[in-house]
Amino acid sequence: MFAVLDRIYRLRSSVALVESPGKLEMFRTNVRESLRIKLDYEGITGLLAKFDGNVFAKNVLDDAGIDSVDGEELITFLNENHILIDVDCSYLPEVFAEKYRTINLIEDYVFSTSGVIEALDKLSTSPVLIVGLGAVGTWVATNLAQSGVANFILVDDDIVDISNLHRQDGFFQDDVGAKKVDVIERRLQEILKCNVLKIFDRLDEGFFARHSLNFRLAVNCADYPSVDYTTELIGEYCMQKEIPHLIGGGYNLHLSLIGQSVLPGKSACVRCFKRALEKINQADLEGVKKLNRLNRKIGSFGPVCAVSASLTSSEAFKILIGAFSQLATLNRRVEFRIRTADFTFTEIEKNDDCEWCGTSGRYFC
Ligand SMILES: [Zn+2]
Repeated sequence: MFAVLDRIYRLRSSVALVESPGKLEMFRTNVRESLRIKLDYEGITGLLAKFDGNVFAKNVLDDAGIDSVDGEELITFLNENHILIDVDCSYLPEVFAEKYRTINLIEDYVFSTSGVIEALDKLSTSPVLIVGLGAVGTWVATNLAQSGVANFILVDDDIVDISNLHRQDGFFQDDVGAKKVDVIERRLQEILKCNVLKIFDRLDEGFFARHSLNFRLAVNCADYPSVDYTTELIGEYCMQKEIPHLIGGGYNLHLSLIGQSVLPGKSACVRCFKRALEKINQADLEGVKKLNRLNRKIGSFGPVCAVSASLTSSEAFKILIGAFSQLATLNRRVEFRIRTADFTFTEIEKNDDCEWCGTSGRYFC
């Protein structure tokens, strides 16, 4: 491992700099965040521009007459805060030409160009299981293919119905009557060259015994017979195998639920959520008389499904590249109300007494 001064850095192209006497403001355009530092060095913007990805750090500092101890401290700070990236390898021109926007995005999650290549590799090689190709799953599949995921296991036992078209992505009138797994496979391969394992089957108690699957991330987008039922099955299988999993969310007309991310052993599991939410719901319903109506028909609105799916996909992206500290739905339930564009959050703690992930739990790890 080379020391900081023997490394090559580049000022990230997404960073805008504003210098004023004694101060430097750095605006990270990708995440729209500012970082301001006090500095008694004039001409810092000119200095930072010299970090062009070709010159060793010590040469930049020597040319500017900056003390190497101070310089090293400054470079480390700017690297840790995603202003300078460590250029420890080059991007292949053909990869950069095709994926420069994704590369630019990933640079905000890592500290070096080799970190970017590693993340691209994880995206393209990690098999992702998507269960349920409905109003959320179809959008999630598309979003992940657009993000560079190239190995899919798609599970659904349904065919495309004309009533699906207003809210599910990738289905057109000519697809009515076709298997959803076939249509989505075709759709994904129109986006990028990818491997798709199609399973025309329904998730039930025997599913994981019938199919021997190898995947790095599961996204549950199945809601038949209920989201709770499918979540429990996927949650339990993934806890046994220590595989990260996401609950792809649901929607009720204007309200969208963004499901939780679970990192086995590190975060609240599906059972922790269930217990905590039961308590919250019980308190909310105390003294309330409930009118049960059978065969209720609830409206659905395509754009709200897309919101739920896009946030789920963003979480999947972070898990796949290993950016766990950036997850927004870890130990957290999120609701989005599209009518008012409001987000609400409920924090859920990992429960030490949990029968799955607690210290005496079945899947404690
Ligand atoms: Zn738990």
